[in-house]
Amino acid sequence: MSLAIAGGEPVRSEPLPSWENAGGRRIGEAEQQAVQRVLESGTLWRVGGTETPALEREFARLIGAGNAVASTSGTAALHLAVAAVAPEPGDEIIVPPITDFGTVIAALACNAVPVFADVDPLTGCMTAEAVRAAITDRTRAVIVVHLFGGAAPVDDIVAICRPLGIAVIEDCAQAYRTVATGGEVGTRGTIGCFSLQQSKHITAGDGGLTVTDDDRLAERMRLFADKGWPRSTGERTHLSFGMNYRMTELTAAVARAQLGKLDQVVADRRAVAAALVDGLADLDGLRLVPADRVDRHSFWLFPLWFDRAACGFDTASFAAALTAEGVPVSAGYLNRPVHLNPALTERRIHGSNGFPLTSPPASRQISYRVGDCPVAEAMIAGTLVTAPCNENFDDRDVADVIAAVRKVHAGLRAAAA
Ligand SMILES: *Cc1c(COP(=O)(O)O)cnc(C)c1O
Repeated sequence: MSLAIAGGEPVRSEPLPSWENAGGRRIGEAEQQAVQRVLESGTLWRVGGTETPALEREFARLIGAGNAVASTSGTAALHLAVAAVAPEPGDEIIVPPITDFGTVIAALACNAVPVFADVDPLTGCMTAEAVRAAITDRTRAVIVVHLFGGAAPVDDIVAICRPLGIAVIEDCAQAYRTVATGGEVGTRGTIGCFSLQQSKHITAGDGGLTVTDDDRLAERMRLFADKGWPRSTGERTHLSFGMNYRMTELTAAVARAQLGKLDQVVADRRAVAAALVDGLADLDGLRLVPADRVDRHSFWLFPLWFDRAACGFDTASFAAALTAEGVPVSAGYLNRPVHLNPALTERRIHGSNGFPLTSPPASRQISYRVGDCPVAEAMIAGTLVTAPCNENFDDRDVADVIAAVRKVHAGLRAAAA
């Protein structure tokens, strides 16, 4: 069996179900009726609408939070959260180096300084020890990312931060229904943020949801998402600075239909992941989410970690060969860790003077360099591969993924020997 990358027959010729095609999404009659209902109502925006408030109530109930605030994206949801915490310009927000750039945008948009804390080599999530070491007297918040659907040690991080008055914002964009040590993610910290973007577990194209038990923070977020305008008073007054991050009724109606499918989507992803773990766990030099953690994970992606010394090949070769077999995967998930993006290393933020990474407003000159987060840098460069894990994979899809991984693993090992 020669590898497809060397001219052999690929394991798989049809595309797998994915968030990029209809076969990997659950968009059907309920969503069509939702859109129709809104169009017929004549009210397409949330002011005076019914769908967006209903989505907020339904999502808050599902997550078990006192409040939910809808917005236009996961990035907007994070921006609401940081804005509600209200850092002073130059205050610091601790973030992980493996995440979507939206996590960092939320801090920069509030003129706060992202400070990176390194990750656990077993999960890719920020560790509590790294958070503790990154705290200074300017730290106002930590944004904890539950990467790929696996829980970060958010309860340990809350235990460190709460006595210091530091807010913990959970970025749950990849982690609907994920279970952390103390319970489901989203309400372990002060504020939880979710995304409805195309690639997430459920989608309305784009959209965001932010949850909190704190009524005062929720009110700040509602104002921030609507130009600081308190609609209930009937006055055209702007109580505070804000954006227009209002979710539309069309988006909310589709999101409500998707929300009704969420638990089945997560259950189906867990079943797919359990089968993948079962079919791959014996491969040398490969580490997966442990079988006994699968039911706490929500598998936005299916991560594989390689030990080069034990398997004899590098992740870039593995990813290229597996993609050629018809299973599209990414070596490293990101091209570079977040802290090494030119927006940060070259300080391309507001204008050209480097604000807010300058002192003042920061209390020290901030710069981002190779070596700041060695575990994350090594993971992206050489140990991590992310594979798809879709709710619509059938038995044959799962069997093809297992066969392709086993074939490439054997082929590259033989070539290295
Ligand atoms: C997708 C994602 C975001 C941003 O969400 P958008 O809706 O794309 O703005 C933020 N954080 C993480 C971890 C994500 O995966």
